[in-house]
Amino acid sequence: MPLPVQAPSPAPAPAAIELIALTKRYAEGRPAVDAIDLRVASGSYCCLLGPSGCGKSSTLRMIAGHEAVSSGAIVLENREITGLPAAARGTAMMFQNFALFPHLSALDNVAFSLKMKGLGRAERQARARDLLDRVAMGHLAERKPAELSGGQQQRVALARALITGPRVLLLDEPLSALDPFLRLQMRAELRRWQKELGLTFIHVTHSQEEAMALADTMVVMSHGVIEQVGSPHAVYNRPASEFVARFMGGHNVIHTPAGKVAVRTDHLQVAPAEADLPGDLPRLHAVVSDVEYQGAYVLLGLQEQGAARCANAAAAYSVLLPEAAFLARPYQAGQAVQLHWTPAQAHALGPSAPATAQAAP
Ligand code: ADP
Ligand code: MG
Repeated sequence: MPLPVQAPSPAPAPAAIELIALTKRYAEGRPAVDAIDLRVASGSYCCLLGPSGCGKSSTLRMIAGHEAVSSGAIVLENREITGLPAAARGTAMMFQNFALFPHLSALDNVAFSLKMKGLGRAERQARARDLLDRVAMGHLAERKPAELSGGQQQRVALARALITGPRVLLLDEPLSALDPFLRLQMRAELRRWQKELGLTFIHVTHSQEEAMALADTMVVMSHGVIEQVGSPHAVYNRPASEFVARFMGGHNVIHTPAGKVAVRTDHLQVAPAEADLPGDLPRLHAVVSDVEYQGAYVLLGLQEQGAARCANAAAAYSVLLPEAAFLARPYQAGQAVQLHWTPAQAHALGPSAPATAQAAP
């Protein structure tokens, strides 16, 4: 019998950007970015996600070359760019609110950086026009930003960022200043352009919803370190730590004798206090504190009862019930209930990512 041939294990996808022990220290004490390691796959949409002040923009600005690195290295497609000037890196940046020059036409906005490079007028306009055509804006090339819709401005900003032929596009909260409706539209459009152009995008946001909607890979940061890297599905379903579970939302963090677990709000079950549950199900006793109608779902807010479990006393939980389930058995504020879950739906949480911060020399 022929021996089975072992298929060679697939090579890891080539990294567009690799960060190696990247550190930014503005002052004494804990660095703003603390020796992070990260590989961003070529052609992927990567979101850096975390609360305000966790070091997202500092990381992005170091990649862009707008901020000096304190230590560590940045590699773009196997070329170290740590010390290169911004214009020589092969990255481009798209800013919040698109930051277009208001007094310049769409065409001149896009051609601007070629002017800075000293290209002649005819050539830079031809290249700018090409790019505007590519983002379906060629017919509005002569308009000023104020004469364009938010969506059209975003396409001009995209064309302006792409004119230098970057390998990686860096976006710092590009949608934060938009009204909610436009934000959803623009987010779908960003995702579409990224796939169509096949470029690597690194997008900074503090919105977990935005990151989940956009990212192939989410990088969750806290206090200058990376807490978790993974697909939105993996991060949402298997949060690595209590921090990630709480930051992502949609989870309850429950203390059990075996340690802390995360149970999704749509997986936590509620039953009347007097219900006779199977004896082997983990459970806790709580009082409904809040009933919030959300359309397809009803969100119950609950407070744990029983000061005896002091580590957990007064812990707050949420249960998301489909509207039909709630209508079949409604709960009211003040009602005593039992919460239970199946062990398979409880995800064990690890400790938060350790900081490598050492005392400054
Ligand atoms: P984020 O983008 O996640 O909100 P930042 O990277 O902007 O976070 O900031 C990380 C930390 O570094 C914060 O504590 C912030 O106050 C500090 N910081 C950012 N920029 C500077 C700067 N230019 N000088 C000094 N401290 C800064
Ligand atoms: Mg920021």
